[in-house]
Amino acid sequence: MNASSDLLSFKNYIDGQAAVPASGQYLPVYEPARGVQYAQHADSTVLDVDAAVAAADRARRGWASMPAEQRADWLRRIADGIEARLEEFAAAESRDSGKPLALARSVDIPRAVSNFRFFAAQAELFSSECHEGNGRGLNYTLRQPLGAVACISPWNLPLYLLTWKIAPALAAGNTVVAKPSEITPCTAWMLGQLCAQIGLPAGVLNLLQGRGAEAGSKLVTHPRIKAVSFTGSTATGSAIASSTATQFKKLSLEMGGKNAAIVFADCDIELAVEELVRGAFNNQGQICLCMSRILVERSIWTQFRDAYVARVKRLKVGNPTDPQSNLGAIVSEQHMEKVLSYIALAHEEGGRLLCGGERVELPAPFDRGWFIAPTVFDQLPYNCRVNQEEVFGPFTALMPFDDEQQALSFANGTVYGLATSLWTSDLNRAHRMAAELESGIVWINCWMLRDLRTPFGGVKHSGVGREGGLDAMRFFTEQKNVCIKIMGFSARA
Ligand code: NAD
Repeated sequence: MNASSDLLSFKNYIDGQAAVPASGQYLPVYEPARGVQYAQHADSTVLDVDAAVAAADRARRGWASMPAEQRADWLRRIADGIEARLEEFAAAESRDSGKPLALARSVDIPRAVSNFRFFAAQAELFSSECHEGNGRGLNYTLRQPLGAVACISPWNLPLYLLTWKIAPALAAGNTVVAKPSEITPCTAWMLGQLCAQIGLPAGVLNLLQGRGAEAGSKLVTHPRIKAVSFTGSTATGSAIASSTATQFKKLSLEMGGKNAAIVFADCDIELAVEELVRGAFNNQGQICLCMSRILVERSIWTQFRDAYVARVKRLKVGNPTDPQSNLGAIVSEQHMEKVLSYIALAHEEGGRLLCGGERVELPAPFDRGWFIAPTVFDQLPYNCRVNQEEVFGPFTALMPFDDEQQALSFANGTVYGLATSLWTSDLNRAHRMAAELESGIVWINCWMLRDLRTPFGGVKHSGVGREGGLDAMRFFTEQKNVCIKIMGFSARA
């Protein structure tokens, strides 16, 4: 559509300034809680991608040669800028995505601030290996930035995940072209404005709005883009892996999940109920780490199920700005329809609905909003479609199991392998199962307890590579071995 002057307009941020899309075309941005358009964002094409990559390429040498302490200072200034406007960013994120304002205020935006601060410290601490040469020489490893890199993120944690990629890429000395999801473009636009205000050197960070199939695909295959850090669905990750395969660029792919919680009878059941209600329904169940399958040891099956369902029924779905709302709106009408179709499928596959299972109608002005009640099923076989495919909404299935082996086979029995939440007081069992679980993360007696230094990512169809801490710094650098022959060297005590 053509630009409308009545709407908020999220443009690109290229070469240090706001940039209108070369085509002059925009796409609608919706407010999920009201089901209406409230803004428009640039529909970037290959021309905008070329401009952004060229800007990143021009800025690459200056940024890479800047002392790490100075790069770290820039990251801290960005963090300070977001923190100073935390309320504004949180309100924008909530409006754009439908998530509760309280969640955006306490999790999304503070985490974006932490991402920049954490990787500022990593920039200063980053070091490389040295191999002393057995009397023949000295080898050391240079870890050099790659150049211009692409960062692509999804809609569920918009600024949180975009900055989780941008911050390490910049810290390691790369310049960045980042593309947020076309469904939640607002806070990326605000980040661009902030970078312009603080005077971040032009071209170091470029933010490109637009559709994945157009701007995203042109960006990842651009010959001057040296690496792609992607978070999103497995289907898109697979498309990126195929389209870039012959270019041999570095890829980090964080993709979908079908995570299982495993609850043994010897755990703190009350705590497990509380945490797994959060673990299934936080952010309307739209977190890649959410537990959409909850496996319960048969001896506590009835007790756990009844307590769980009673707790879920107390969750309030409502206006995202109301502090009493536990769940806000689903991010888009299309995604709401997808989640509802999985609820219909769960009925078809013989599941028993324990609570929820329907769209929630709220009074005006939210009567056109996209709300779904937190939904719990049981009596679904572990290998049916709803227990195999990612729903990515307020939906979870409870299943009893008889012993460790059966729990493992249910938990491992999908193509995904992102995260598991294991509940037991038996330390031996916890270790045994953690080693056997096919997932990148195993939480024991907790869910989503994050430490930014740890390797983050999945196995099987959930991911390739790891983000976080040193892994991210290593992903965004290329190693070079330098070997010096030392004449007359002999190792002495
Ligand atoms: P998506 O794959 O549809 O889109 C993700 C991003 O990729 C968007 O910015 C989109 O514009 C872009 N894109 C789409 N097609 C592209 C292409 N051909 N080339 C380049 N870029 C393209 O995912 P989504 O619906 O936005 O997000 C939900 C998915 O993300 C779920 O599957 C969820 O599990 C996953 N996710 C994973 C993690 C993780 O850490 N593993 C975290 C959050 C979300």
